[in-house]
Amino acid sequence: MMEILHVTAECYPYAKAGGLADVAGALPKYQNDLGHIAKVVMPMHRTKFLLENEWDTVHKGSFVMGQYYFDYTIIKERTNKLGFDLYCVDIFGIFNREKIYGYDDDSERYTAFQIAVVDWVSRWQHHPDVVHVHDHHTGLIPFMMQHCFAYRHLATIPTVLTIHNAQYQGWMGWDKYNYLPAYDSFQWGKLDWDDTINPLASGIKCAMRVTTVSPSYMEELKFNANGLESLFEYEKGKCVGILNGIDNAVWDPATDTYILDNFSVKDVEAGKKLNKKKLCDDFGLDIEKPLFIFIGRLVGEKAAELLPQAINDSVYHINGRMNFLILGSGDPVVEYHLENMRSSLMGFYNSQIGYNEKLAHQMYAGADFLLMPSRVEPCGLNQMYALRYGTMPVVRSTGGLKDTVTDFGDPGGFGIRFNDATVGDITYSIYRATELYGDKKKMTALRKKMMQIDNGWEVSAGRYIQLYEAIL
Ligand code: ADP
Repeated sequence: MMEILHVTAECYPYAKAGGLADVAGALPKYQNDLGHIAKVVMPMHRTKFLLENEWDTVHKGSFVMGQYYFDYTIIKERTNKLGFDLYCVDIFGIFNREKIYGYDDDSERYTAFQIAVVDWVSRWQHHPDVVHVHDHHTGLIPFMMQHCFAYRHLATIPTVLTIHNAQYQGWMGWDKYNYLPAYDSFQWGKLDWDDTINPLASGIKCAMRVTTVSPSYMEELKFNANGLESLFEYEKGKCVGILNGIDNAVWDPATDTYILDNFSVKDVEAGKKLNKKKLCDDFGLDIEKPLFIFIGRLVGEKAAELLPQAINDSVYHINGRMNFLILGSGDPVVEYHLENMRSSLMGFYNSQIGYNEKLAHQMYAGADFLLMPSRVEPCGLNQMYALRYGTMPVVRSTGGLKDTVTDFGDPGGFGIRFNDATVGDITYSIYRATELYGDKKKMTALRKKMMQIDNGWEVSAGRYIQLYEAIL
């Protein structure tokens, strides 16, 4: 039995901006099911979950960051509601804000969070067996545990860094060198990448093992890692890709309380039809036509700016034989186009700009196809949710999409894949999907097949345990 401490900026359902939250909210639960003790510590974001639950204060401490003095408090959720011990760090002035990220002082905020976590752990009566950190917001922790004078007694605890997204690295100018607790200055190179303090690079250098959330993404990072390519090549010996799972208990069309009609493999056609009817009624779409959806952040990584043109071209050139529904937020220019198109493509297209968990579930349940033309997709969860709800993913062959979706044209395949993030490739794939939709028998068979694929966390949770065992 091992004790694992996960350190993360997000955790579903407490605070979520993307896939990181889904992983941090599920992986520890499944590790506990395997007989281990997994705990999570995260910032005390001011969300509904914080207000709706009861908390105990478990520790109070203080630290100095640069010229600032901070008190911090660690609270713990009282009822073990999420299936693991959940701890939050509060630092006044740092986390009493509306959003998880997006402030000018984010690097200072997350440096303070990391110092508080390390300081707290350094005061535990015992040590966790593994400290597992996630993304750049927690990337400085392995360095702090090994090279900050006050915390060197933590240096023997194995650390694992999981990279959910290598595009963001938490860069901080060297003028902030004194934000970290006093450290062995001979080790400065372990903080540096390209004359900048780079928390993600530091995590890769200092953690004992580095994982990414799919094997293909690990390979791609050696050629495309926002400047860290040579570091991934150099450190490849300790890097491994472990595919994310999905939480089958939360994402189950048979029990999902967000959707109108529950269904399973047996009654997939009837079940999806009722859910589709509600969606089409709500958004003014035609239930007879194949419904394509997109759910996600409207950013370049997801190739979201190609959607308006691809939708327009499809409606005009494939004679309006399909409908589209988009849910997402992000780049204001893309948001503007997606909102504006509603009037010109009325009856063929609709969108909701914003974040809406309930609608996302309803869309997976009611749609026929899910579009994911991503330029970069470390793992991608949407395509796995879609599979479970019998919605065929239409994906670009990259990262985790490549590892989880095969093309229906290939032996054993059940989805649609294309190679380039271009309007042409997307519209051609929409055309292929529309043709396939006409063949009801084949469509039903493929739906049943994809719903039976098990992408649950059990297997991946076990792989992480094996990884810890190897370094213990
Ligand atoms: P990323 O972490 O890069 O954003 P993932 O596919 O790994 O992408 O995870 C995205 C998660 O966020 C999924 O659970 C998806 O359903 C959810 N999501 C993204 N945007 C929205 C939105 N606007 N409304 C509801 N859920 C969303």
